[in-house]
Amino acid sequence: MPHPDRAGPATLVRACDRNFLFDCGRGVLMRTAAVDVGAAALAGLFITHMHSDHTTDFNDVITTRWIMSPSPNPLAVYGPAGLAAFARATLAALETDIGYRIAHHDDLTDPPRLDVHELEAGLALDTDGVRITCAPTDHSPVHPTLGYRIEAEGLVVAIAGDTVPCAGLDEICQDADIYVQTAIRRDVVERARMQRMRDVLDYHSDVRQAGETARRCGVKTLVLNHLVPPPSPEQEADWKTIAAEVFDGEILLARDLMRIGS
Ligand SMILES: [Zn+2]
Ligand SMILES: [Zn+2]
Repeated sequence: MPHPDRAGPATLVRACDRNFLFDCGRGVLMRTAAVDVGAAALAGLFITHMHSDHTTDFNDVITTRWIMSPSPNPLAVYGPAGLAAFARATLAALETDIGYRIAHHDDLTDPPRLDVHELEAGLALDTDGVRITCAPTDHSPVHPTLGYRIEAEGLVVAIAGDTVPCAGLDEICQDADIYVQTAIRRDVVERARMQRMRDVLDYHSDVRQAGETARRCGVKTLVLNHLVPPPSPEQEADWKTIAAEVFDGEILLARDLMRIGS
């Protein structure tokens, strides 16, 4: 749902002086610009699943990286099966623009390059102190979907994406310092008048389930993001209260540009 203060789903993980972006929802490059990270500086883009709200600005990341990089700068993109076809289709959609820019700039001779890695489970990347693994999650009927676990600088971050509790989610969250979970307010969404709105209840973790996963996995900090419906500031305490009924660690409600850690 478009919201004036909330861009689409995207989480930037900065580790060992590198920037890893998880999902690229609406407005992502405006938000990364606010923390001085341009598309050209991304060390990798990780997609949790192919729902459009998580991939809306893929084209913007590709094009902006391409034109802002002084020399060829392939983008490593990781995600579930279906990512390669989506990447090809996106590049095909950009073909006219790519042609315009190559014709206009003498030093731009090659189209944007992507290194696409389709993943199922296990290791995604392990370089220079950063290890990223993934596990299948459950967002049925959306399939396949992935959650990611980032280990670096002695810390563990789990990026769950859209999923109900499942074994794969527990795997990436085990003993995590920070667990970032898409969450919905079941009690509010149940009262929605549109059936299409109530439909989302069966494939997202609600706030209590996110708290239960955090407790079960021994997580230190639970971060609820991609909040449905987006709470007003005065409603935020209710969200935390629900999670705190089952989880006694730190609970944060994500806001755009919220920074966690040093
Ligand atoms: Zn989704
Ligand atoms: Zn979503």
